[in-house]
Amino acid sequence: MTFSDIESHAREPAPSAVEDGAASGPAARTRAEREALKLEKRLCRQVGQAIVDFNMIEEGDRVMVCLSGGKDSYGLLDVLRRLQARAPIRFELVAVNLDQKQPGFPAEVLPNYLQALGIEHHIETQDTYSIVKAKIPEGKTTCSLCSRLRRGILYRVARELRCNKIALGHHRDDMLQTFFLNMFFGGKLKGMPPKLASDNGEFIVIRPLAYVDERDLVAWAEHRAFPIIPCNLCGSQENLQRQQVGEMLRQWQRQHPGRIESLFTALQNVVPSHLMDARLHDFRHLQAGGVFDADGDKAFDEEPIAPPPVPV
Ligand code: SF4
Repeated sequence: MTFSDIESHAREPAPSAVEDGAASGPAARTRAEREALKLEKRLCRQVGQAIVDFNMIEEGDRVMVCLSGGKDSYGLLDVLRRLQARAPIRFELVAVNLDQKQPGFPAEVLPNYLQALGIEHHIETQDTYSIVKAKIPEGKTTCSLCSRLRRGILYRVARELRCNKIALGHHRDDMLQTFFLNMFFGGKLKGMPPKLASDNGEFIVIRPLAYVDERDLVAWAEHRAFPIIPCNLCGSQENLQRQQVGEMLRQWQRQHPGRIESLFTALQNVVPSHLMDARLHDFRHLQAGGVFDADGDKAFDEEPIAPPPVPV
């Protein structure tokens, strides 16, 4: 049996919604409860769909779910547990948090949360904060060293916990922002992949929230009352460029509803012959084939623009 069955299961009402206190009959439900149930179904459906589309989780996988204490990683763990409970395949989830000893980090919050839910977990405590502070001069960006240290530690922990996959809480908006950041500042058409081997070649890194709108994660975190840990404890200046690109995308969406969905669909609908990367399309040896090709060049005619896609 494959994971593809999980997606059809994800369309069914989630039993956990009842456990979580939703009323038993539709008439008795308040509007907020109905909205929460719809949101839960949407999240499960989108995560299930991403898992199927990219074959992210397979029978026997042991998945390390990286938990930072932010809304995205809480949402990821929460939805993966719901899917795990009704999946026709067997896989394991291990929640892992790296306590980097940032000042004010409430070390008890995540262990308490995970213990209360009975989730297999591991808290790794490593004072990378002091290393970064000692090595990087005041005023310089600390993120590159910090994330390199964090990556090495998480790989070691994944190995020690015998995990073969690492799940991260990046969502659709993170992926689009990365795409534009790479284009604006890196001169590359390159996004954030839903699934890729880790740079040390040892693990498969997956992003099951790839289809999820960040606003849904905000709403889900509020509904579930996750004990959120602030993300600015390291004192690093927030990534200004990412913030600016995020605001640009939100403004586009306000002015032209559906634009985000269209952009995101474009990431899954690449036409190498109509770009200019000779490594992806063999322009050098191109010959006229002598037969009609609907995707061939329209010469002086404008390319027809497809209608906007239906959001996932
Ligand atoms: S924002 Fe802070 S914790 Fe995050 S990578 Fe940068 S320095 Fe590290």
